[in-house]
Amino acid sequence: MYDIDATHDPKLKSWVAVANQAGCEFPIQNLPFGRFRPAGSQGGWRIGVAIGDQVLDLRAAGIVDTDDMNTLMAATPQQRQALRKRLSDGLREGSSEQGAWSKALAPQSACEYTVPCKVGDYTDFYTGIHHATTIGKLFRPDQPLMPNYKWVPIGYHGRASSIVVSGQDFKRPHGQTKAPDAAEPSFGPCKRLDYELELGFYVGAGNAMGQSVPMAEAEAHLFGVGLFNDWSARDIQAWEYQPLGPFLSKNFASTVSPWIVTMEALAPFRAPFVRAAGEPQPLPYLDSPGNRERGQLDITLEVLIQTAKMREAGAAPHRLTKGRVAEAAYWTAAQLVAHHTINGCNLQPGDLFGSGTLSGPTPDAAGSLMELTLGGKQAIELPNGEKRTFLEDGDTLILRGWCERDGAVRIGLGEAVGTVLR
Ligand code: CA
Repeated sequence: MYDIDATHDPKLKSWVAVANQAGCEFPIQNLPFGRFRPAGSQGGWRIGVAIGDQVLDLRAAGIVDTDDMNTLMAATPQQRQALRKRLSDGLREGSSEQGAWSKALAPQSACEYTVPCKVGDYTDFYTGIHHATTIGKLFRPDQPLMPNYKWVPIGYHGRASSIVVSGQDFKRPHGQTKAPDAAEPSFGPCKRLDYELELGFYVGAGNAMGQSVPMAEAEAHLFGVGLFNDWSARDIQAWEYQPLGPFLSKNFASTVSPWIVTMEALAPFRAPFVRAAGEPQPLPYLDSPGNRERGQLDITLEVLIQTAKMREAGAAPHRLTKGRVAEAAYWTAAQLVAHHTINGCNLQPGDLFGSGTLSGPTPDAAGSLMELTLGGKQAIELPNGEKRTFLEDGDTLILRGWCERDGAVRIGLGEAVGTVLR
């Protein structure tokens, strides 16, 4: 569906000089979309494309005639590929657009951002099988992985209104909790606040109600990916989650990165979808040759923490986790689209899917504190001697992601940052 073309050429350079520096998150091969405005202004949000340390205002440059990201996301893959080519041609060294487009640039550091599109509906999946197994053991030692897990891409309908952009902090939630040995629940601030390292998949073109999206067409309905931190109140979750799943333990805040890295940009960073011998093969509606060949995304993710004490001392954030999506995800993004629509459910441009916590097979790739601390039983020690089982007020979590591979230019997803307030 999304092939490598001239826009991925590793030799391409941009007239935005910073974009050509080694390790830059946003080289000309990336071109992610976001919504921005000058920091502190009250103006409307504009559609921008990140290039180097700048953001290109698409309407000011005469490239689009709308400020509505969801309209842009509804375009066909052909229209989107044409837009990507136009952006690549205009931003490359020697382009005749340089004079006009350079007037439509703003430094990223001088801008503020919002959630990159209007998210109508948000569905949180549970594709991280190592996460599901480890968490399952903590909640249900006798049956860690439910019998449906390897057949059904498990998900629940989350809440879109509390999805916030990187940099927006949130208050520790209050709620009902019940200690295992207590006779009755108590009410108060969450004592087991956690993060979840996830990818967010953004839907592009929607489907009509009643019309399922087959696997072969599923990726055409995906616009791109961003980082997603599904903050979770584990003590509230443990008491409320049966029988209908998580509710208030999840919907107080979720943090996304400002940029959507498009499926086109990810074309060089794909990996096969493999079911190991002995594992159930997906049912036919969740299977396709294209998915087997390259359904997975080869993205590296990491999580860092900076406590209030670290911040005061000027200490750099400390890495908690580093892992690869393809080693963590039991289902691919295309399978999530096919499954979500198999009953006729209609997706709309801007809908968001959380991947589920993407924990790798080894403990250093665990995507939540629940896993890193074995359910709060074993504190982790930070370089300054502070200990954590769960998050404390003032803790800042930073999610980062990037793709790198021989023969391709490294691209970044940026950051999703959030701080827990009292
Ligand atoms: Ca989640």
